[in-house]
Amino acid sequence: MRVLVIGGGGREHALALGLAADAGVERLVVAPGNPGIEAVADVRDVVVTDPDAVAALAVETGADLVVVGPEAPLVAGVADAVRAKGIACFGPSAAAARLEGSKTFAKEVMVAAGVPTATAYTCVDAVGVNEALDATGAPYVVKDDGLAAGKGVVVTDDRAAALRHAGECGRVVIEEYLDGPEVSLFVVTDGDTAVPLLPAQDFKRIGDGDTGPNTGGMGAYAPLPWAPADLVDRVLAAVVTPTLAEMRRRGTPFAGLLYVGLALTADGPKVIEFNARFGDPETQVVLAQLATPLGGLLHAAATGTLAAHPPLRWREGAAVTVVLASHGYPGTARTGDPLAGAEQPGVVHAGTRRAADGTLLSAGGRVVCATGTGADLAAARDAAYALLGTVRLADGQYRTDIAAAAVAGTVRVPTR
Ligand code: AMP
Repeated sequence: MRVLVIGGGGREHALALGLAADAGVERLVVAPGNPGIEAVADVRDVVVTDPDAVAALAVETGADLVVVGPEAPLVAGVADAVRAKGIACFGPSAAAARLEGSKTFAKEVMVAAGVPTATAYTCVDAVGVNEALDATGAPYVVKDDGLAAGKGVVVTDDRAAALRHAGECGRVVIEEYLDGPEVSLFVVTDGDTAVPLLPAQDFKRIGDGDTGPNTGGMGAYAPLPWAPADLVDRVLAAVVTPTLAEMRRRGTPFAGLLYVGLALTADGPKVIEFNARFGDPETQVVLAQLATPLGGLLHAAATGTLAAHPPLRWREGAAVTVVLASHGYPGTARTGDPLAGAEQPGVVHAGTRRAADGTLLSAGGRVVCATGTGADLAAARDAAYALLGTVRLADGQYRTDIAAAAVAGTVRVPTR
C-alpha cells in the first residue's frame, strides 16, 4: 500500500513512524512533513488547505490511502477532493468535520443525540455574553466558536477576563464548567463501526500544576491506570454510538478519527469537545502502544470495512510524552533557535526546520516531544524525561509534572 500523509507536525511524525513500521506500507510520502519525518518518509511540499493540490499530489504519488492529519484541511474539504479522485482517504468530509470546525454545530449534534455535555450558550454580542456568564456562574468557560488550534478557550474565575476573551472572539460559546479529570478517547470509525484506541490524558496548560494559559498540549500519557474499568464501554454507548448515528441521520456520516475530549465528572463522563482528527500530543503515546499495523487499520476505516478488521492488539506497559516548547509560547513564540539532540529515536518533531547548512532550528511554538515507553507508567515517565534531558533548546519550556499525579496515584474522579 502507498500512503500519503498530509501535515507536518508532531502528530504527523507519530503517524509516519507508525505507518513506516507497518510491513503493508510499501511507500510513504508526507506533505509538507518536517525534518524529523524525513528520516522515515519521502517529504513533498503542498498547501495542506488546498483540496485540489492535495488530490493532485495523491494521484501523482499513486497513493492507495491518504491520511489527513490536521483539522484545517479537513474543514477545507481535502478528504472530499481526494475521494472524488477515487482514492481512499482517512479523514471526514468537510460536512462531518464541522463537529470540530464549529463548537455550536457540535453542541447541536450532541443535544440531538442525547450526549452528556456541558450546557452551552452561543452569543454574538455583549448582552448575550453577560446573560450567559450570569447563567453559568464561575468558573467561566469562554470558547471561540471556530478553529483556534486548541487556544481559543479561556477558563477563568475572573469575569473581566471572561468578557475580554468573549469580546475578542466575535461568535462565542459560553458553557458550564465541567469538574473532573480529563480524558482523550480516540475512536477510529468508518461511519458505522467504531474502534476505540487507548484512553489518554493530555495537559493543556503551559505551567506545572495546570497553571497559566491553554496551549495545544504540553504532554500526554496512556493508558490511564486510574480510569474506571468500564470507561471506554460507557463512552462508546453514551457518546460515540449516538453521535455517529446522528451524523448518519443528517446524511453526513462521520468517518475518520473521532476524538472525544471528556471530563469525568461526578455525574459521569461528559464531552468537553469533539475533534475530527488525532490529537497532538496524545497520538504520540497512543500509537507508541499500538501493536496492530496502523496502515491496515486506517485503510479499513477509509474503505468502510472496519467491521471485518481484527481486534486491536496493544503493547504491555505505558507511554509518556513531554513537549519542549519555544520561549514565549503560547504567546508569540520565538523561532530560529538551534536545537540539539533532536535526531534520535523517541524524539518527535513538531515545529522544526533545517537551516541551509543542515542544522536544526526551532520553527514553531511546540518544537519537539520526547516519548518514553516502559513496563509501567513510572518507567515510561522516567524514560521520557531522561530523553528530554538530552535535547537542547535555548530557553525551552516544558512541564515537569506530566503523568506525575497518575504515577503518584492521586488522580481522583469526583463522586457525589
Ligand atoms: P477545548 O478546545 O474545547 O478542548 O478546550 C480546551 C481546554 O479547556 C480543555 O481541554 C479543558 O481543559 C478546558 N475546558 C474546555 N471546556 C471546558 C468546560 N466546559 N469545563 C472545564 N474545562 C473546560
